[in-house]
Amino acid sequence: MKRVFNFSPGPAMLPEPVLRRAQAELLDWKGSGMSVMEVSHRGTDFVEFAAKSERDLRELLNVPANYKVLFLQGGATLQFAAIPLNLTAPGAVVDYVVTGNWGEKAVQEAERYVKVNVAANSKATKFTTIPDPSTWKLSTNAAYLHYTPNETVFGVEFHTVPTVSDAPLVVDMSSTLLSRPIDVSRFGLIYAGAQKNIGPAGLALVIVREDLIGHARRETPGVVDYKLMAENDSMWNTPSTLSWYFAGLVFEWLKEQGGLTAIGKVNERKAKKLYAAIDGSGYYKNPVEKPHRSWMNVPFTLPSEDLDKPFLTAAKSAGLTNLKGHRVVGGMRASIYNAMPEAGVDALVEFMADFAKRHG
Ligand SMILES: *Cc1c(COP(=O)(O)O)cnc(C)c1O
Repeated sequence: MKRVFNFSPGPAMLPEPVLRRAQAELLDWKGSGMSVMEVSHRGTDFVEFAAKSERDLRELLNVPANYKVLFLQGGATLQFAAIPLNLTAPGAVVDYVVTGNWGEKAVQEAERYVKVNVAANSKATKFTTIPDPSTWKLSTNAAYLHYTPNETVFGVEFHTVPTVSDAPLVVDMSSTLLSRPIDVSRFGLIYAGAQKNIGPAGLALVIVREDLIGHARRETPGVVDYKLMAENDSMWNTPSTLSWYFAGLVFEWLKEQGGLTAIGKVNERKAKKLYAAIDGSGYYKNPVEKPHRSWMNVPFTLPSEDLDKPFLTAAKSAGLTNLKGHRVVGGMRASIYNAMPEAGVDALVEFMADFAKRHG
């Protein structure tokens, strides 16, 4: 068996110790004689496991007591619709800041239900920057302000929380949640699909301030009615038990790594190494303005598109996979979430230098 360094943007790498533990527990979970996939979500074992996973997540993120933590299905994309359904009345106005394609998609979905004011959009720069918050055209009575702290495709990230609006901040942290400490109390609602930095696909986390829930529109489906799901410990219907289980193992692994402060330092170091290698190469280029570069997703181009294929082929033979950039950006993209070991970034940096020398 040979594991590779998998730079996929998602579904992405999981920590190897988590996979090994799941493997060891697969046929007989907690002495039940069954796998975790085969037990009732209402049985004591799963209910206890679920409660512990929530406690671990709350501890990792230091989630204040007046926030609910929900383990939902439908990915981050279902939340694009669930958020306006839960948080706004018909006729309300909401502000969205668009810094990439995920923000665009969030707008498209929200527009089905609510009047969306796009307060800022960096499309004209090909999503290589974050528009200065002082220039955002905010509405006076927005029910919330939505933005995407890390745009996964373009590799552009907010490194500070904007303070220009009084409206609750609603953030799609799909590709950055758990990568470093955050102050949850700054946000009204945080959501994330799991398959980037949390666990396997099939699970979405929602962390929402209590006072924002309980006003869902009548037509809100029960499975994304935050109050209903909170009252039922995210088990109003059958949850995605296997994905939840993996997420719980990832939380335990993160605690063993020293929590988010420790992993954040590793992530910052990994990103710095890779950007330094790109900027110092005179060969590779990253288009994103330096203060807004992502720690998680690092796009880069080669001097010519003709080199893309040889690069990808040689990288794959070196055990470095899934480096192809998104079709709208081209070139390469290295996604370096929590589960990517620093050794993987070191191997990539070394490979890139060697490739540039051979094809310079
Ligand atoms: C991947 C991603 C999504 C979509 O997640 P799904 O789970 O496929 O719905 C949304 N937003 C961001 C920032 C993402 O990276």
